[in-house]
Amino acid sequence: MKPSTGAVFNLTPRQRRAVVRKTKTPVRILLFESLDEHVLREVMLLASRSLDTNLRVLSNADCNAGFDSARGQWSADVVIEKCLAEYSPSPDFLMGLTSRDLYVPSLNFVFGLARVEVGSAIVSWHRLRTDQEDILIQRIAKEVVHEVGHLKGLLHCRNNTCVMAFSNELSDTDRKCVQFCDLCRRLRS
Ligand SMILES: [Zn+2]
Ligand SMILES: [Zn+2]
Repeated sequence: MKPSTGAVFNLTPRQRRAVVRKTKTPVRILLFESLDEHVLREVMLLASRSLDTNLRVLSNADCNAGFDSARGQWSADVVIEKCLAEYSPSPDFLMGLTSRDLYVPSLNFVFGLARVEVGSAIVSWHRLRTDQEDILIQRIAKEVVHEVGHLKGLLHCRNNTCVMAFSNELSDTDRKCVQFCDLCRRLRS
């Protein structure tokens, strides 16, 4: 099994074009565990610049659905379905931020997951942790922007410096920028 950042899409190109959102849909953040205030503020700043949209912390999430005791991990799908569902349907995108180690059934872990049909995503900083605060900020911001990109209908990008590049491991996340490449930017805006 390969770890990955992931959202799974089975859309035809025509369906995909229909899904791509042309608006600057605001992003509301639900925080599952406390994150250092400075780190959170810098993540929001970087992500809002890259997305050219407003990010705001909506509330702290109080939800414990999705824990798999055999794996010692949390199901990203169940967390999105059970913990973010109460806010749906929402005109804004919902982004859960958590320290919980997330998985999907076919993978060892995921850094994040987006569910286009409910306009919600989750990102975990569990496997992004490092002693270097500036790198942690960059990593979380990249994963947040990546998952919001999926919510806007973008797929993985072959440009490995684009924020929509697939992250199989941390070095992939560190290699890419927090920005969209020109092609993805045109599709998203
Ligand atoms: Zn992805
Ligand atoms: Zn790209």
